[in-house]
Amino acid sequence: MSQQCIFCRIATKEINAGIVYEDAHVVAFRDLSPQAPTHVLVIPKRHVGSLSDMVESDAALLAAMMLAAKQVAIAAGLTGGYRVVTNSGPDAGQSVSHFHLHVLGGRPMSWPPG
Ligand code: AMP
Repeated sequence: MSQQCIFCRIATKEINAGIVYEDAHVVAFRDLSPQAPTHVLVIPKRHVGSLSDMVESDAALLAAMMLAAKQVAIAAGLTGGYRVVTNSGPDAGQSVSHFHLHVLGGRPMSWPPG
C-alpha cells in the first residue's frame, strides 16, 4: 500500500469509488472519466506499478484480474463483446502508476487504438 497512490486508497475504501466487483485480491470500480458506456478499472489490492512490474509469482493474481474483468463484463451485460486493455508506461499513456485493466464496452470500437 502506498499512501500516495490513489488506487491503493480506493482499494482500502479510504476514497469512495463506484466499486462493482471485489474479491480477496482484486477490486473493480467505474472509471471517473468513462470512454465508453461501460468503463471499469480492475486493480490488484496490492500495489503494483504496472504490468512491467509483474513477475512469475504474480501469475495467479494476473489470472484473477482477467477473470474479474470477465465477471465485470458479464455483470454489465456486454453480450456483444468488450475490450480489456492496460497501458504500461509513458509511451502507452499510463497516467496512474498502479497496475489496472480497463474494461470497456457498450459501443463499437475501432482498431488500432490511438
Ligand atoms: P491510465 O491512463 O491507463 O493510467 O488510466 C488511468 C485511468 O484512471 C483513467 O481512465 C482515469 O480516468 C482513471 N482515474 C483516475 N483517477 C480515478 C479515480 N479517482 N476514480 C476512478 N477512475 C480514476
